[in-house]
Amino acid sequence: MKVYIGTDLEGVAGVVTFYAQTSPGNPGYEAAKRLLTGEINAAVEGLLTEGVEDILVCDGHGPGAVHYESLHPAAKLLHGRPLAPRAVRDAVVREYDVCMMLGQHALAGKPLANMNHTQNSQAIDAYRLNGKLIGEIAQFALYQGALGLPLVFLSGDEEACREAEDLIPGIQTAAVKRSLGRNSAISLSISRSHELIRTGAAEAIRRQRQAPLSPLVWPGPYVLEKRYFHTDSADAAADAPDAERVDGQTVRLHGDDIRDLIYR
Ligand SMILES: [Zn+2]
Repeated sequence: MKVYIGTDLEGVAGVVTFYAQTSPGNPGYEAAKRLLTGEINAAVEGLLTEGVEDILVCDGHGPGAVHYESLHPAAKLLHGRPLAPRAVRDAVVREYDVCMMLGQHALAGKPLANMNHTQNSQAIDAYRLNGKLIGEIAQFALYQGALGLPLVFLSGDEEACREAEDLIPGIQTAAVKRSLGRNSAISLSISRSHELIRTGAAEAIRRQRQAPLSPLVWPGPYVLEKRYFHTDSADAAADAPDAERVDGQTVRLHGDDIRDLIYR
């Protein structure tokens, strides 16, 4: 079994506020990177107990947030910005059997969900795919789903876990924070979070061997509607030759291959 892991930062236990912890230069950024990497290493430990022989971690948080020096010796890291041409990266990801998400948060607008946002927390109000509100979990699951990888495990705050379970019934999750608000949560201790992630990741592999989840694929063609907070962001997005302006803050994009569309 070969496992591909996508990471984010806002769903990690101990990370609760944007202004202090999620951008380079923030006072708590380096500590937040180490917290994320501790959770990655816990997942790796769990995967190793199930005999997983290849683990590739993709550093998914905007500017990158994996603390390389502390990464588990059994894991490899896909990183750098921009994150390699898509054709090159897709060929690498296709070598893996299943994918997992760590440190994940809920979609923009989810009431009380800690650090809820979709892509750009400063600019994006909502993403809708074929009329359905989606966030980063659906984006990741659909993109990797198109490459043949099912999403079998996710860790993050409780709201992110619930979102994943609604999207992919049967997915294994580990909730390491209870959301009390966009900038507030109750985090479990580091050791308890790691225990849940270690055992959850291992259980996901066992379940996948017994009753495999399928890759997430929604039927096309696709219409992606992006609603921005401000009209100037929509002005810029509407400059794309295939973009259709819906209203002052909203732009619509069309496509047949989900991979061409889902991260625009
Ligand atoms: Zn994110």
